[in-house]
Amino acid sequence: MKPPVFDYHDPETVEEALDLLAEHGDEGKLLAGGQSLVPLLNFRLARPENLIDLNRLGSLTGIRREHGSLQIGAMTRQSTMEHSALVAENWPLLTEALSYVAHAQIRNRGTIGGSVAHADPAAELPVAFSALDSRVRVRSARAERTIEISDLFVTHLTTTLEPDELLVGIEVDPVPERTGHAFVEFARRHGDFALGGAAVLLTLDSSGSCERAAIALLGAAPIPVRATDAEQALVGAAIDEKAIAAAADAAIADISPTGDIHGSAEYRRDLCRVMVRRAIAAANRRAKGEPEPESSNGVID
Ligand SMILES: Cc1cc2nc3c(=O)[nH]c(=O)nc-3n(C[C@H](O)[C@H](O)[C@H](O)COP(=O)(O)OP(=O)(O)OC[C@H]3O[C@@H](n4cnc5c(N)ncnc54)[C@H](O)[C@@H]3O)c2cc1C
Repeated sequence: MKPPVFDYHDPETVEEALDLLAEHGDEGKLLAGGQSLVPLLNFRLARPENLIDLNRLGSLTGIRREHGSLQIGAMTRQSTMEHSALVAENWPLLTEALSYVAHAQIRNRGTIGGSVAHADPAAELPVAFSALDSRVRVRSARAERTIEISDLFVTHLTTTLEPDELLVGIEVDPVPERTGHAFVEFARRHGDFALGGAAVLLTLDSSGSCERAAIALLGAAPIPVRATDAEQALVGAAIDEKAIAAAADAAIADISPTGDIHGSAEYRRDLCRVMVRRAIAAANRRAKGEPEPESSNGVID
């Protein structure tokens, strides 16, 4: 199918884009990588009267470290972040999450800002950014603001961004020393949207006990879910099989995933439990500096 008719705008500056958004935000859409929006247009599930193309806004691209924090421009391609040495060395959870996003061709076009703003409940980056307690920077012609990632997602494909607001970047604080990470998911085929998954960061103290834990679930709800009870259960504990199993049980205690033709609610709930268990074990191993097992992503059962 072909998209419905729309007026096309290709601003050259962010200010121009913000003016266009102020004028057309209610009945318009921003075009970033187009990997989610263009199919929606072609299926006529989205019918914006105006399309505001962000692809000429070079100032929205790039990855840099500023005062220790990671700053990612919204129009940075997923593949750019996937291959960033800075990110791989300091925020490897993001690199690992990106390895599960779609396919290389899609990651060459898809953007980091688009992945977050689109708020797909099965998308990896919103879950990884949630585990990292990230913030998004937003601008409109009226104002500028920073939104905690925990305040961004409302439900399936819906965020707290106003129609005239542009997501300009994402900020991630440094990860403490002695932190291990793991992003784990299960999809029917590699590159498909996942049925369930988990992002985990574990910081160990000098005795090897858990000082801090962050666990975010993919596929547990229409938005990324932080498993705070499971996180609390781990803090102060030595990470052994019993502690991991208890945390995984706590992580799914309050979730009610939606079932569909790919998996029942009960199946998805159990899948989340297994994903959390595997992710905690892998993060713990990495925090301790133990060698990676044979499997490709360091995760074994
Ligand atoms: C076959 C296929 C498989 C895929 N598999 C996966 C997968 O496994 N995991 C995954 O995470 N994704 C997957 N995707 C989606 C892909 O990652 C998209 O690139 C991403 O979700 C959207 O990024 P985009 O830059 O293409 O955004 P676009 O498609 O251009 O935009 C998406 C939405 O976000 C809005 N938007 C974009 N940028 C901004 C901004 N800066 N400020 C405010 N709003 C903005 C747009 O208006 C639109 O509503 C897949 C896509 C395809 C086609």
